[in-house]
Amino acid sequence: MAPLLTTVRLESAAAGARAAGIDALLVTPGADLRYLTGYEALPLERLICLIVPAEGPVGLVVPELELPAVRDSPVSQLGINVIAWPETADPYDLVRHVLGESLPGAPNRLAVTNQMPAEQVLSLREVLNKAKFGLAGDVLHTLRSRKSTEEVAELTAAASAIDRVHERMAEWLYPGRTEREVARDIGNAIIDEGQASVDFVIVASGPGSAAPHHLPDSRVICSGDPVVVDIGGQTSSGYHSDSTRCYAVGQPPSLFVEYHQVVYAAQQAGVAAIRPGVTAESIDAACREVITQAGYGKYFPHRTGHGIGMQIHEQPYLVAGNQLLLEPGMVFSVEPGIYLPSAHGARIEDIVVCNESGAQRLNTVPRRLVYL
Ligand code: ZN
Ligand code: ZN
Repeated sequence: MAPLLTTVRLESAAAGARAAGIDALLVTPGADLRYLTGYEALPLERLICLIVPAEGPVGLVVPELELPAVRDSPVSQLGINVIAWPETADPYDLVRHVLGESLPGAPNRLAVTNQMPAEQVLSLREVLNKAKFGLAGDVLHTLRSRKSTEEVAELTAAASAIDRVHERMAEWLYPGRTEREVARDIGNAIIDEGQASVDFVIVASGPGSAAPHHLPDSRVICSGDPVVVDIGGQTSSGYHSDSTRCYAVGQPPSLFVEYHQVVYAAQQAGVAAIRPGVTAESIDAACREVITQAGYGKYFPHRTGHGIGMQIHEQPYLVAGNQLLLEPGMVFSVEPGIYLPSAHGARIEDIVVCNESGAQRLNTVPRRLVYL
């Protein structure tokens, strides 16, 4: 397999900028920077800015004290010019200077990474006041949504690690324990299974399961509870996982068992509808149809899924109104749910990759209700 990170990403970003009529992309720390350079920079107030011109060499403006971290990253192997600024220099002026070297005349159109802090955006606008500013997301997020074979392999490894944690749930989830205690053990297990860090652990028991993003609290789990467990971590290369399963501690309410089947069928229908060329919203519609037909339509309040990669939530979003056409290499969650307010709820979530013939699930642990 080819290396995960090559200069192809930077070349594609420059090509995307050219196609969009953008003179340069300006990228500060976050998923876009890590995607393009492998450099996992701390998001500090000191300016770190990657400059990707439509034509010409790529530059990275960094504070001098960040140089050791830059040297430890793949930046030098990618042929990026590193321009360090001393503690008392004006880094924004330096960005203007670097842009001036690669672009004849003042830049007309610049695009900043979507997560750039407002104070940095405004400072750049001040020194580059002739340029029109836009967001780099149209170029970079489109690029990031089409995963390479190597990226799909990373996401598969991340999914397998989280599957192994789900398979061990009986070790931690039983009556008498608080959601927080269970969540702490799950977090430790995510690391034990080889992940570099834990992104989130949702343990939603009893009435808490009716809230899609319930945070684990001091509620003690009792026999008869439905429990929704939604967990994710990330690999050392920065690729995320995100998977939800429902557990029954003892015998849960029969209504819960009934509509868990509906969620199961909806998730199957969503995955079955995936193939290149269909719209993102059609997958949402396929899941929603099953839930609506069963009479639970108004209890499915969220979109069906989100892309995943170097961010937990990224493009493509499977939501009504998104007519983006799915392509091979896109990786996203399919996670329908039913939530009965103040009673209980259920969600089933897998990460899937769209390939030439349909969808392949990266999470393969059984989706049936697990009785503990
Ligand atoms: Zn999730
Ligand atoms: Zn998710």
